[in-house]
Amino acid sequence: MKVYLSDANHLFRKLNLVTLDDAQGTYDIMYCENCGIKGKCRDLHSIEIDGRSKIKALRCTQSKEEFDKQTAINKYNNDSKESDIQCPKCKKNVRILDEWMEEGQTEITAVTAVCPCGFDGLIHLTNPL
Ligand SMILES: [Zn+2]
Ligand SMILES: [Zn+2]
Repeated sequence: MKVYLSDANHLFRKLNLVTLDDAQGTYDIMYCENCGIKGKCRDLHSIEIDGRSKIKALRCTQSKEEFDKQTAINKYNNDSKESDIQCPKCKKNVRILDEWMEEGQTEITAVTAVCPCGFDGLIHLTNPL
């Protein structure tokens, strides 16, 4: 089946760096960052989804919001460190991904942090760490 790039709210991204070809001609492999469906794109407008993903293909199964939240949770669980800084959204403690120091400062003035509520961004510290 075919999915049109303009429909179905998928967030397609090209997987291959160089255009590929098979018996039917050249194509790119397109992949939806939200729901993971994958297929061959031959004409820049539509994607042939392989059999297994047919049901998913009709409409993207995840909203951008859900996807961002899932991404934040993954970062939270994997590459962050604990902190006692409060999340600006839900007031729970966030985990830190990066620490930032402004020029001329000797202390951390901001952090990039994530929270399971979906917050993923910069927090300016009023009391430097
Ligand atoms: Zn999708
Ligand atoms: Zn939060």
